[in-house]
This record gives sequence, structure tokens and C-alpha cells, in this order.
Amino acid sequence: MDNNAMLETILKCNRCGTCQDVCPTYQVSGDEFSVARGRLRLIRMGLENKLDLNNEPDIDTFINQCLLCKACEVNCPSSVPTAKLISDLRENYTKLKGLPIAKKVLYRGLFSHNHRLIPIRKLTRFYQKSGIQGVLKVAGVFPSINNLIPEMPKFSVKDRLQDIIKNIPNPKKKVAYFLGCSVNQFFSQVGEATINVLQANSYSVTVPELLCCGAPHQSSGDIEEFKRLAKYNLEKLSGLEVDAIIVDCSTCGSILKEYDELFKDDLKYKEIAEIVKNKVVDISVFLLEWGYKINPNNDNKMKVTFHDPCHGVRGLKVKDAPREILKKIPGIELIEMKEADMCCGGAGSYSIFHPKISRKVLERKLNNFNDTNTSVLVTSCPACMMQLGYGLRNYSIKGEVRHLVEILAEKL
Ligand code: SF4
Ligand code: SF4
Repeated sequence: MDNNAMLETILKCNRCGTCQDVCPTYQVSGDEFSVARGRLRLIRMGLENKLDLNNEPDIDTFINQCLLCKACEVNCPSSVPTAKLISDLRENYTKLKGLPIAKKVLYRGLFSHNHRLIPIRKLTRFYQKSGIQGVLKVAGVFPSINNLIPEMPKFSVKDRLQDIIKNIPNPKKKVAYFLGCSVNQFFSQVGEATINVLQANSYSVTVPELLCCGAPHQSSGDIEEFKRLAKYNLEKLSGLEVDAIIVDCSTCGSILKEYDELFKDDLKYKEIAEIVKNKVVDISVFLLEWGYKINPNNDNKMKVTFHDPCHGVRGLKVKDAPREILKKIPGIELIEMKEADMCCGGAGSYSIFHPKISRKVLERKLNNFNDTNTSVLVTSCPACMMQLGYGLRNYSIKGEVRHLVEILAEKL
């Protein structure tokens, strides 16, 4: 969006303040510049030359502290696309100033080449298993970092593919599984559960070699790298003869569905992106539509609540499917938590770059979890799992974070 279009869009804001009720950063700070209305005002002042748009520290702070959770957008009576405006502004900043070094290392250095996450997993596991972490924990050294890192698996999903993938004779559907970087390396039990659940229900699964979906790059405004990753993934995905592309990471799924918008000025890729978009489906929606089985005898009692990832509920527009599945599992009691669809403050690497405000948003989520008196916090995004797991460990809250597919795999 150019500056004139941005200004025109911002002028649609009628300053009603509805966004205050749903904006996580406003709810925990009470700061007018931490809500859509205030952020829009700052951008407008920049566009009208009342503030230096490119060098005003306040603009930088408040724009970068937006979680891009889109809660304001879906509740705005004037349909102001605040998250989109902020993303566009970040893109302009990144073009002008380049990525900050920490983001460059993390996003372009690691996520752009996802095999480089292998030594990270292995080293972290060594740190956790060798006793070093235990000693440092007792000594109270690096408490936040120790709590932030989930227990690293010994193997990635890719390491185990040969053992997990089965030949399914006469499959009900042929699907590709989009294996995201975080699930593959850090939450491999989720990836294995996804494949197992699909195969147990007679769906044949193929796992294509892909790159990162580009979510970290997109959120930091690095659109050049986002496009490179998206083009690679689109070429691979569009060549597959499958009925659906299954996602178990709301973020990956939501970003894959945004590729068509990314290539709105590039006919070739836009066309491919639209085909891929129509095939991308969250695993809960897919199973509900095409069928799945549950072992009725496996009815261990469990009280659970569900946290909606922002990319799930507002990106993929998945709200009811995971709940319907949970409610149908024998022994499971689903208790809704307050503000289930409010961001947990994870937002990819937001918790690393904005720890203070991220923690406040998380505390609010954890209080709502505590109020349910459930023991399992179910969700469907590895970024949320990381943040919520950190919260439980850091505040010594009883309970565990599980992905929906982990529960389903146990109930086969
Ligand atoms: S809800 Fe929409 S119109 Fe109302 S203040 Fe917020 S951004 Fe403006
Ligand atoms: S996207 Fe989320 S954090 Fe950003 S202004 Fe809107 S509601 Fe607030």
C-alpha cells in the first residue's frame, strides 16, 4: 500500500474505541498508543508529516509492539485493516533500514535454512540431558531461558519419516502434510501424531521437502525473503497430486493461505497460490469433513480447555472444529476459558523481542486458564505451545500444554 492509500484507509477509523476491548497490548498496558486507534493515529501523524515516520522512536516502538493478532480488525465496525497497515509499514522500514541484526540472524540465518535448526535442537537437548540445565536451574541462572525452551526431542520428524510413513492401500484421500520448522525440530511428537492420526484413518500421507512458510520474515517486513520462500514452496506444493494439504500449525496454514495476496501483482504465482490455498486445510477441519475414528474404550477422564491461536481463529477461521472433536472424545470434558481467542503473547518470536509486554499478555491468559480448573491446555500452534508451556513452567502452574492431534493420537 502506498502512503496515499494508507492515509485513506486510516481515515476510515471513526475513533469509536471498540478495539480497546479486544486488543491484548492495550488490555495489559492501558496505553492509547498500544491499541489500533492510537497506532493508526501515530501512523497518520507520520503520513501527514507531523512526525518523522521513519525516525520517530515512538512510532517504531508502538508499531513493533503490535502482535498482528488481528483482533482489532475482526471487531472493527469500520473494517480498518490495522494489522495489514502495520505489516506494510514494517515492510517499508525493512526496505529502508534493513532488518535488525538479531532478526537477521534468527530469520534469514536460521529459519530460511531450516536444516540449521538441527544443531540447535541437538545442542539444546545435550544441555538439557547432560545435567548442565539442572545445575543452572538450581543455581537460579537463566531462569527465563530455561523455562522458555521445551524439552527437545531426540529425533526430528524427518529423521523418523521412514519408520512412520506407511503404505495405505485404497486410501480414502491422498494428502500432503506441510511439516513446519518448529513442529519438525522442536515438537516432533506433534508431527508424528498428525501422520499417525491421518494414516490410522486411511488417508495416505506424503511429506514434501519444503522451506519455512515465511511467517517470521513476513511479520518483520522482510518481504523479499518471504517471497523467495513462498515461491519455492508453491512450486513444490503445486506439483503434488493430492486432495488436500494438511496443516497442524495454525501459523503455517494461515501464511500459506496468504501467498495469493503476496503475489497479487504476479499472475503466474498468484494462480498457483490460489490452487494451493484451496487445498490447505487445518487437520481438525479435514477430519471432521472426511471422517475419523476414536476408540470408545479409551475413555480416560480429562478436563481440558482450548486456546485459539490467532492464526487459527482469525487466519484459518477455525473455531468450532477442534472443539467439536474434543467434545466427541469419550472421557474428555471441555470447559471454555474466558478470552479463549485472545493472543497468548507468543506471536512467533515476539516473546523474545518484547519480553515485558509479552509476559503481561501471557499472565492474563494463564489466569484465564487457572479459572477453568482444567489440567490440559489444548491448542493447535507450536508457537502458542512454546509460549504457554513457558508460562506453566515459569509460574509453576499445574497442568500441561498439548496439541489437539496428540490427544487424538492417544485415543485411536
Ligand atoms: S474499532 Fe476500528 S474504527 Fe473503532 S477506533 Fe478501533 S480502529 Fe478505529
Ligand atoms: S493487531 Fe492485535 S495487538 Fe495489534 S493493534 Fe490489533 S488487536 Fe492490538
